[in-house]
Amino acid sequence: MAELEQRGDRTPIPAAWEYASAPESREIVKLEERYGLFIGGEFVEPRSGEHYKTLDPSSEGPLAEIPQAGPDDVALAVRAARGAFSDGWSAASPAERAKYLFRIARILQERSREFAVLESLNGGKPIRESRDVDLPLAAAHFFYYAGWADKLEYAFPHRRPQPLGVAGQIIPWNFPLLMLAWKIAPALAAGNTVVLKPAETTPLSALLFCDVLRQAELPPGVVNIVTGDGATGAALVKSEVDKIAFTGSTEVGKAIQRELAGTGKKLTLELGGKAANIIFDDCALDQAVEGIVNGIYFNQGHVCCAGSRLLVQESIYEPLLEKLKRRLTTLRVGDPLDKNTDVGAINSRQQLDKIEELVAAGEEEGAEIYQPPCRLPEKGYWFAPTVFTNVAQSYRIAQEEIFGPVLSVLTFRTPDEAVEKANNTPYGLSAGVWTEKGSRILWMAQRLQAGVIWANTYNRFDPASPFGGYKESGFGREGGLHGLEPYLDFREDSTDVIGG
Ligand code: NAP
Ligand code: MG
Repeated sequence: MAELEQRGDRTPIPAAWEYASAPESREIVKLEERYGLFIGGEFVEPRSGEHYKTLDPSSEGPLAEIPQAGPDDVALAVRAARGAFSDGWSAASPAERAKYLFRIARILQERSREFAVLESLNGGKPIRESRDVDLPLAAAHFFYYAGWADKLEYAFPHRRPQPLGVAGQIIPWNFPLLMLAWKIAPALAAGNTVVLKPAETTPLSALLFCDVLRQAELPPGVVNIVTGDGATGAALVKSEVDKIAFTGSTEVGKAIQRELAGTGKKLTLELGGKAANIIFDDCALDQAVEGIVNGIYFNQGHVCCAGSRLLVQESIYEPLLEKLKRRLTTLRVGDPLDKNTDVGAINSRQQLDKIEELVAAGEEEGAEIYQPPCRLPEKGYWFAPTVFTNVAQSYRIAQEEIFGPVLSVLTFRTPDEAVEKANNTPYGLSAGVWTEKGSRILWMAQRLQAGVIWANTYNRFDPASPFGGYKESGFGREGGLHGLEPYLDFREDSTDVIGG
């Protein structure tokens, strides 16, 4: 037992807890040596003839070979989706579509341990998070949109909602299965068929999902999965789809918008963020510390809505920072499959390089770095939880998205100053406000330019609640009724409005 620390006349508490390792078994996951592309309900060899290896980022060990789909493969997948759309999916009774979505949701629940282990293995995130966040939310999205599938006329009264056709969907590596659920569930509920491209580094849960689709007996071609890198994504953007739904970086989002300009294809973009987590001096400090930790160290900070800029009211700066640093010393960094792990592996070498570059820039520009003492594993990609103080608004670490476990701390004196600093960013995806005053929460929420604002909590998600950005964080919403609209065309008819 660690040494005891005496706090006043209270019962002594241990200064540190040591945990025995509690690894989740990876036996439940059966990997193929080599995967195919999922087109028309079958796994097929890529016409490109090319494959690449996908890794476990915590060990750098290879897991499986994945097809690198070329333009011909993408075209084949789009044709399969088009065929399935006209062959019955778009005309199927809405209750029939709901049936498949409910089945998928239930199978995801039944197989959630298998998916959670695979997600942690291929992505590096702690099993605690894939088990308790990614999987329950992915299933919840399918349940939620299953409920809307046969109620579209009521969701959009007098607007005659119609499916668009084939949706091309491109997703990132930070929440591979959850982002897939956010994309596929509303698209199918609205009567579309899809071609989805997972991120290059995390294709495995999307490929296992194909097995769920077969189990659910979803008609072939309704969902097609094409794996590969950015070139595969670019080929999907250029293909004969009716809509592109993209989640990823602002840079790639802008390129896609340029490519689609004038084509008549619909587009939604969920891009980056640099959220302010704003702490007022009347808040419950210990609760706020937990919210700050969850805001930036959840999923190693690979979260578009991460609370990566901490704005602290000057009067509580010192006690808050002391509590925060102390809390950081208790975070356990290491094996993603250990049930005690709080911070797992960085998703890829490329992402680790980006984090290291920005952290070096922070030190060079004059910010003060703090990292709790922690031993990082020798193999794999790792980065210790990091806090930067003495940060000026102009520093790169205050402006650019780091997408890693790195927090930049700034201060403010008045609510006006907090709003001004929070909005001083090209992004506008999310924000957090911590205060005991309800009126202040509302006052702040009216002024913050962010798609999602959490009050006295952070990083909470619900399928019924729309999510999306302002400014360079993109446009369009996912989740809720708002999330159905980008997958529908409306044939408004005025006689309908009058006649009912
Ligand atoms: P990314 O490089 O933009 O990649 C996103 C997806 O697009 C990946 O599947 C990627 O393939 C593909 N892609 C790359 N280049 C492409 C191109 N020219 N045309 C079409 N597709 C292309 O982003 P990332 O680095 O993987 O993900 C991190 C970013 O996503 C962060 O900026 C984060 O904020 C954002 N994000 C936003 C949300 C949101 O809801 N707003 C959610 C999660 C993440 P590869 O895997 O081969 O690169
Ligand atoms: Mg990328």
